Amino acid sequence: MTDTVLISEVGPRDGLQSIQATMPTAAKRAWIDALYAAGLREIEVASFVPARLLPQMADAAEVVRHALTKPGLTVMALVPNLRGAEAALAAGVHKLTLPVSASEAHSLANVRKSRADMVEELRHVVRLRDAHAPQVKVEAGLSTAFGCTLQGVVPDDDVVRLAAAVVEAGVDEAGLSDTTGMANPAQVRRLFTRVRAEIGPRTGAAHMHNTRGLGLANCLAAFDVGVRTFDSSQGGLGGCPFAPGASGNVVTEDLVFMFEAMGVHTGVDLPRLMAAREPLRRGLPGEPLYGMTPEAGLPKGFVAATV
Ligand code: ZN
Repeated sequence: MTDTVLISEVGPRDGLQSIQATMPTAAKRAWIDALYAAGLREIEVASFVPARLLPQMADAAEVVRHALTKPGLTVMALVPNLRGAEAALAAGVHKLTLPVSASEAHSLANVRKSRADMVEELRHVVRLRDAHAPQVKVEAGLSTAFGCTLQGVVPDDDVVRLAAAVVEAGVDEAGLSDTTGMANPAQVRRLFTRVRAEIGPRTGAAHMHNTRGLGLANCLAAFDVGVRTFDSSQGGLGGCPFAPGASGNVVTEDLVFMFEAMGVHTGVDLPRLMAAREPLRRGLPGEPLYGMTPEAGLPKGFVAATV
């Protein structure tokens, strides 16, 4: 039996909010169309944050409305708090993701809330969901799970305890995010194994960054210990200001190539995925796009995985 993974494309959110330029709404629509045409069936299309903080996401509701026209697509949005969740639910998203820092220092710096306060916020978001949109899934993304630029080491125990706390607060899934690109494969194996032992099937996605070139290795390590949902971004969009030449998120094209070449089904058509770089490039002229597979092309005789 062929193994199957879900590739959750986060470029339209994670990628676009990490760069200076703002992609015009029509270009976002065209890019999402192309990603969908390539076979991606979960896309994080926006984040619901005040436009004065993140003008790149001012059209979030409009982008969600467009994405909702695609049959079979899970439309995701990131929300930092209850207010964002209200807006995202009003726009009709299928899935919310809330970042919760495993590092206390990162949490205070990023959202000016302690981890415990963020878990409380999450509890309110779950209550809102239960009352108004019970079919919507809520995911917590445990950011800085593998290390923090402010705090340095993030103890495994802190991550496991936080995973248990967000599940107790009612989330459907808790994923682990290497926000700062500090993870290594041994750590990924160890931490996902411990988190799964704690929260079982509520263990969510691996969100890996390629800051130090270990993005794919970390995804493979997560796959080896049972993770089947992977966040990635077309063209590794977003880059990393601290590591010139390195992409931000794992590059979707390379991740899909790795899995398909291994015989693991992604549902994504690689030639069409490469073609989706064109609308992205047109929407963001001059922005660097990353990826080894798009540069090298598919190897002669390449056969994609079949179910
Ligand atoms: Zn990311």
